[in-house]
Amino acid sequence: MERGLGNQAILAKIDKLRELNVGSMIPLPQLVVVGDQSSGKSSVLESLTGFSFPRATGLCTRYATQITCCRDPLPSVAISIIPRPDADDKLKAKLLAFQRQLTKIDNDELAKIFQDANAAMGIRMGSGVSTSTAGAFSEDILKIEIYGPDDHLTVIDVPGIFRVPTPGLTTEMDIKLVENMVKRYMDNSRTIVLAVMPCNVDIATQEILKLAEAADPEGTRTMGVLTKPDLALEKATRGAVLDLVRGKRSNLKLGYYVVKNRSADDATSTLAQRTQAEKVFFSSPEWSGVVERCGVSTLKERLRHLLMKISKEEFPNVKADIDHRLRCAETALEDMGPARADHGAQRLYLGRIATRF
Ligand code: GDP
Ligand code: MG
Repeated sequence: MERGLGNQAILAKIDKLRELNVGSMIPLPQLVVVGDQSSGKSSVLESLTGFSFPRATGLCTRYATQITCCRDPLPSVAISIIPRPDADDKLKAKLLAFQRQLTKIDNDELAKIFQDANAAMGIRMGSGVSTSTAGAFSEDILKIEIYGPDDHLTVIDVPGIFRVPTPGLTTEMDIKLVENMVKRYMDNSRTIVLAVMPCNVDIATQEILKLAEAADPEGTRTMGVLTKPDLALEKATRGAVLDLVRGKRSNLKLGYYVVKNRSADDATSTLAQRTQAEKVFFSSPEWSGVVERCGVSTLKERLRHLLMKISKEEFPNVKADIDHRLRCAETALEDMGPARADHGAQRLYLGRIATRF
């Protein structure tokens, strides 16, 4: 795998473009984690990046979250908000003003930051504290930059799709909003879709696979990520999972990976302990035939490689797309003639028309 400075610079540039909301006009190369609610999306992200979302809040993901790991000798975490594309100037300024930096991960502090971020985005937190404008979900993106020993990797977590509204919390409209948001990310031709599914359910019933198939019929840019292998208690269930991982029943060209994340009961383990536990788990003979598709570190290497590959391949196309949009905008601007922003200029313009007439 190549890791020259040039490659890292490309990834950083693409992140910069996303920050400027260019992604709402031009598809940008990216990795997006999708799945049904509680399939383990945020846990996969936590395993991949080492960043733990505050747990106590009991909240599910209410907006897209972009996590970027960057190599830096000084470890720190920076949290900010990328405003929704249609935000007016006032809202935009308010959202951009939200900037927090941590040099040490402290869970209480982090929970507080997330609460503040939710408030800034106008997220309704429960049936009690609702204002008329607060929604359950937001189109803003929460951006988390983690500076540390890891090479560049950016992954985007989106809210999980769901079918049944929770009274006082989510509505039928929210269901549609989330589905559209997820679809929009998946439809992007330069997105690699990580479809997260738990091992302990019937994979064929997972809504997300249907959506992935609609967005990527050839299955060239969808990868299956199977979570909760430790909860697949029956041999038959594990057998079905192994078949998928071996590529027996799968039409996804990127294939399936299995990872074991933090369980719901585990509030205290460290990343190192979980990595070790995962290693022990996958060392059982059952998994030994598919080790190259098991575990977080294997998945991480593969994702880094994939992201680099599409970023490098697509970078010239992204540039061409931007140039094209820019030229169109410039032509349109020229067609409008010189600016006439004030009364004087407008009077002059009308005067000229009158003279010509
Ligand atoms: P999301 O809604 O898709 O983001 O799902 P979460 O990441 O919040 O996970 C839902 C629940 O499943 C959480 O309680 C996790 O701790 C648990 N979970 C996720 N992955 C695993 C896993 O590999 N094994 C076990 N036992 N639990 C997991
Ligand atoms: Mg989540």
